[in-house]
Amino acid sequence: GKVLVTGANGYIAMWVVHEFLIRGYTVRGTVRSAKKAEHIQKQFAEFGDKLEVVVVEDITKEGAFDEVVKGVDAVAHTASPFHFNAHRPEELIEPAVKGTVGVLQSVLKHGTSVKRVVVTSSVAAIVRDEPAPVTFTENDWNQQSLDLVNELGEKAPNMAKYRASKTLAEKAAWKFVEDHKRDIDWDVTTLNPPFVFEPAIHELTDPASLNTSAKAFYDYVADASEAEVAGNDFLAKGGGCWVDVRDLAEAHRLALEKQEAGGERIIICSGPFKWQDFIDAANALDPPPKLSKPIPKGRPGSGSGHPHTVHLANYDTSKSDRVFGLKYRTIATTTKDTFADYQARGALR
Ligand code: NDP
Repeated sequence: GKVLVTGANGYIAMWVVHEFLIRGYTVRGTVRSAKKAEHIQKQFAEFGDKLEVVVVEDITKEGAFDEVVKGVDAVAHTASPFHFNAHRPEELIEPAVKGTVGVLQSVLKHGTSVKRVVVTSSVAAIVRDEPAPVTFTENDWNQQSLDLVNELGEKAPNMAKYRASKTLAEKAAWKFVEDHKRDIDWDVTTLNPPFVFEPAIHELTDPASLNTSAKAFYDYVADASEAEVAGNDFLAKGGGCWVDVRDLAEAHRLALEKQEAGGERIIICSGPFKWQDFIDAANALDPPPKLSKPIPKGRPGSGSGHPHTVHLANYDTSKSDRVFGLKYRTIATTTKDTFADYQARGALR
């Protein structure tokens, strides 16, 4: 089969492309400029003409994907801005929504061989901040961030702007399916991961070129200078839920292969974490990784293992267990592989 992967140069997308290639698929990846194709071609050189990289300059333009959906059996739409630096909410919302709807529209018009579109959504489209622990399911929708952005506009928290972009993009996808259910013989699956961690195979020069989630891991676990800025308790109390990028990549493939995944939104989550958990796992590595500076210590044992630790946002993964049967990587494994990657790269100096 042949799969179109949008935003193929991204952190997650590179692993998605890798997953499809090692499983024998042919991949057409899109990037925003010819320059951004170079690293991908190099990274996956061994796969020869099983990989084609094409330029889609502006995903918000009507018909942007009309040509690239031709002849593919499925689409994995990952391209969407993920950062917390937007001033106007529209900076994130417009490419998120128009990109998603644009892909679906192009498939409707020109994707005559497409059977399924997988959209990389996020738990950002599910979660809301609550004072007490909640276990969210696929039935939950993040109305809270939409309200914040509607009320506060540019003054909304940057996290809310990003979350609103993912919520609106996913809602738009499901609305498209509903509006066109009589005209389409293909379906949509959305994957909803939390923080995605390490290792990275996209184009990297320094820690600043890590994507937002892998950068957070680097800042808080390997470097911890940012954690010092965030305050004393941050490593023990700060965190969320996470998944290894390779598990998420596998989920993208399974989402295309498993019939039952069609029409579903599916949470992909390894579990909750505090940053201290990864720090403790890093300090337990034997042999210790050789890095340019020592691994921070934080306060060992003050993370998830501590009796007073609370995880406010939790996710029910029974659907992904049932449909995909995924065995998620553990904190120990992901930490080991991530630090091996840092060591191999000279800690990204
Ligand atoms: P990256 O920043 O590494 O990749 C984002 C990709 O989207 C890049 O290819 C980027 O292209 C493209 N993109 C960003 N903004 C635009 C735009 N305005 N127009 C066109 N293309 C754009 O991030 P991730 O790999 O982490 O994210 C990939 C997807 O996964 C996103 O949809 C994100 O919301 C989602 N996600 C990520 C999580 C995480 O923790 N990492 C968690 C949950 C969901 P370019 O390089 O040219 O900017």
